[in-house]
Amino acid sequence: MSIVAVGSVALDSVETPYAKEDGLIGGSATYFSLAASYFTKVHLVAVVGTDFPAEGREELASHGIDLEGLEVVDGKTFSWRGRYGRNPNHRRTLETQLNVFERFRPRLPERYRKCSVVFLGNIDPALQLEVLSQVESPEMVFCDTMNLWIETKRPELDRVLTKTTVLLINDDEARQLTGSLNIWRAAREILMAGPQYAIIKKGQHGAIMVSKESCFVACVFPMEEVVDPTGAGDAFAGGVAGYIDRVGRLDDRTLRAAIVRGTALASFAIEEFGIDGLCALNDQILENRVEAVLEVARI
Ligand code: AMP
Repeated sequence: MSIVAVGSVALDSVETPYAKEDGLIGGSATYFSLAASYFTKVHLVAVVGTDFPAEGREELASHGIDLEGLEVVDGKTFSWRGRYGRNPNHRRTLETQLNVFERFRPRLPERYRKCSVVFLGNIDPALQLEVLSQVESPEMVFCDTMNLWIETKRPELDRVLTKTTVLLINDDEARQLTGSLNIWRAAREILMAGPQYAIIKKGQHGAIMVSKESCFVACVFPMEEVVDPTGAGDAFAGGVAGYIDRVGRLDDRTLRAAIVRGTALASFAIEEFGIDGLCALNDQILENRVEAVLEVARI
């Protein structure tokens, strides 16, 4: 029971209509790993520079996350600066500095290679393929991507999709990927590209899941104040993949239950700036939130 997760580990600067914070520990793999750590063991594959704060490593390690695959390289950590409007679904990337990510070639430590569950976080699909090629027999591959790669690395992304079991993607990106404005049709077209399941995230409006056999609409935890939407998608993915790995089975029912866990973890992620909302949870707090998410849709 464990997951190999690759993605960015970053230093973020986030501006919302109410506040601005710099030097936040972030990155797709960070949010994913913290969320998944409540269900399973995560083996992290990423790179940081020598400026990455020791507290960041300590926080990840305190969640039992395996950091052998977290390379430290001379230089600056990947950094991202984003601004949200009053609608938390509206995000503008103001700046992305690849820094040590520019030369990153993922190398999986020996014990990572035996894992059969893989999360390919939002990074260059060419790197996602390199990670996959080092896993001996990947059985369940969860994958996230973004508009940048849809625009610039389409052939590589298409190859990743043929090897993906569950694609997690937001609604605008699903439309961009498939050319379909209707998200149900977009999900159907994603399934034709390879994945068995398409999960389309709709920000504060929840998510849908589509497989060849069925569809599922996940509701949200009603939140009146979103402090920092960063990482919601990755925390969601961590909850989904982490729960599936803990149960050890991927089928329609289990994936529905996993999506509710993902929704709960995403709601914690956005309650505070950076990773703070994900750091101090426990089984009881998590279960209460899962119940609250389920209650919203009970008739
Ligand atoms: P999310 O809000 O779930 O989409 O994830 C936000 C995280 O993704 C932030 O912490 C960023 O550091 C990271 N991020 C933003 N752009 C990129 C990119 N081009 N490649 C890798 N990670 C990124």
